[in-house]
Amino acid sequence: VASEFDIIRRYFTRPAPRAEVGVGDDCALVKVASGVELAISADMLVCGQHFFADADPLKLGHKALAVNLSDMAAMGAVPRWAMLCLALPEPDEAWLEGFSRGFFALTQEYGLDLIGGDTTRGPLNICVQILGEVPEGQALRRDRAKPGDEVWVSGTLGDAGLALAHAHGRIELSPEDAAACFAQLDMPQPRVALGLALRSIATSAIDISDGLVADLGHILESSGVSADVEFSALPVSAAGARHLPGEIAQQAVLAGGDDYELCFTAPAALATEVATLARRLRMPLTRIGRIAAGSGLRIYDAGGNPLSIGVGGFDHFR
Ligand code: ADP
Ligand code: MG
Repeated sequence: VASEFDIIRRYFTRPAPRAEVGVGDDCALVKVASGVELAISADMLVCGQHFFADADPLKLGHKALAVNLSDMAAMGAVPRWAMLCLALPEPDEAWLEGFSRGFFALTQEYGLDLIGGDTTRGPLNICVQILGEVPEGQALRRDRAKPGDEVWVSGTLGDAGLALAHAHGRIELSPEDAAACFAQLDMPQPRVALGLALRSIATSAIDISDGLVADLGHILESSGVSADVEFSALPVSAAGARHLPGEIAQQAVLAGGDDYELCFTAPAALATEVATLARRLRMPLTRIGRIAAGSGLRIYDAGGNPLSIGVGGFDHFR
């Protein structure tokens, strides 16, 4: 049976060129350039809460890092280092092999190093901490949206929520739609390049992990502003479009979690820069509304009538 140290050596020790000291000492050591701020975040995936015990370990390895990269994207930070804390019921080699493959595929793709962590026996639990760099004062924050700014989102909304609804038997997706929606749920692609490009454009940003209503709501609250959004302007995938205006699809678009798109605000005068950016990054960036004074989020249907949005976002304690 593999020992804790075998596991760390075999599955989690890789060259860490961006660190002075990586896995293997009591602490990792990294150099931070002057004029740079560290952006630091952590996200935990708990078995039974965020995934099922039989979930594909490769997808889990991907998602555990992807959700953290999404936080880097939302701040306009360059991801540099990650820490991985794992509780495992048993040293399952096939699981570790798949998990580490999914995890390191993303560290490769985004150019960051795993520099440490902790490994212990216990109920399956995955916690990743990520550290990134952002030039001083340039981070994208939640609290800087201004009246008159326009509200944008990347990609499409609701597919992950539709996949969950399908998994729970509340909706029936065609096999093709299911494949597309589960890809969004299981293998989200963090919008890191978008976040970096938005540093010079956006006034505020957040990643949509708990649904548009909740996450745009955080921007509004932190910034002390309100917003008007038109439901028909929200970008949805082909699968989403096929299930609208059904209530479940509407919920998924507005309040389904796990989209990992960015929602951001930008001055109206920079709309052409945003459009240029969409072409350069080959991703949809859609203007969905406008920031105003006051508080709260107002969503209108095509007829201009306010939609009732008693939907909130996903909240673990509600
Ligand atoms: P310590 O007893 O000093 O906490 P550990 O025995 O827990 O050290 O870990 C040994 C080394 O392996 C440390 O550098 C630690 O950061 C690293 N490490 C432990 N678990 C992991 C993991 N799951 N992924 C990456 N590095 C890990
Ligand atoms: Mg330890």
